[in-house]
Amino acid sequence: MPEKKNKNETKKSFKKKTRKDKKKDERVSVRTPFDKEAWKPKTEIGKKVKQGIIKNIDELLDNCAQIKEAEIIDALVPDLEVELLFVGQAKGKFGGGQRRVFRQTQKKTSEGNKPSFATVAIVGNKDGFVGMGMGKAKETVPAREKAIRNAKLNIIKIRRGCGSWACGCKEPHSLPFNINGKSGASELIFMPAPKGTGLVAEKECQKILKLAGISDVWSKKLRSGSTKLNIISSCFKALKKLMSMKVKQDLIEKVGIVEGAIKNE
Ligand SMILES: [Zn+2]
Repeated sequence: MPEKKNKNETKKSFKKKTRKDKKKDERVSVRTPFDKEAWKPKTEIGKKVKQGIIKNIDELLDNCAQIKEAEIIDALVPDLEVELLFVGQAKGKFGGGQRRVFRQTQKKTSEGNKPSFATVAIVGNKDGFVGMGMGKAKETVPAREKAIRNAKLNIIKIRRGCGSWACGCKEPHSLPFNINGKSGASELIFMPAPKGTGLVAEKECQKILKLAGISDVWSKKLRSGSTKLNIISSCFKALKKLMSMKVKQDLIEKVGIVEGAIKNE
């Protein structure tokens, strides 16, 4: 009966987790040190990055290169920050539980209830690059690892500028134009805001915008009654539009559009 043995083992390891461990799993900000020397690239692009032939993330993103190794992003965007979003909720009495980074679901099988965890990670350098990824696994830690990896592979470049008519400073503190994103029942619109406005958006969206390097934004829900997951992905979809939208040269000058990072220049 090898199956039963396995089941008992997983149960044991689950019990061993103390409250302290659980708190560790629930950390919102995660930073993993990256060792470029120890990294053994598996893909062609990865090898070129390690050798220093590719030095800039722009070279990859502008050519729509397929990035299949998370380490490529670690090597090219060194000051990357990772944050987990609150997508789950702990079961609780008195109407609603605590917010959690893991969304827990259960599958009923003949062997009993099988829990599964899902989480969403955001990576960004607070300077024009941001990525979002989801991870699902039977335990919290691998779910988080998967989410972070997917977020890195999903990294995008954004455009910033000052599209607010009330501000007009031409500095890249806000959005250059209105963007909207749709996912499931959720539809959001983000608008340029004058300096000092801050991020007027849903809390998890604020984290995404902050890691992307945007400091002033107004937003509006065009439809309500959607899940947190839908809100998050419509926010990211909206940010994707920043680069796909065609802009004329005179607009670039008028609102001071910058693509990607500004610190390096
Ligand atoms: Zn401005």
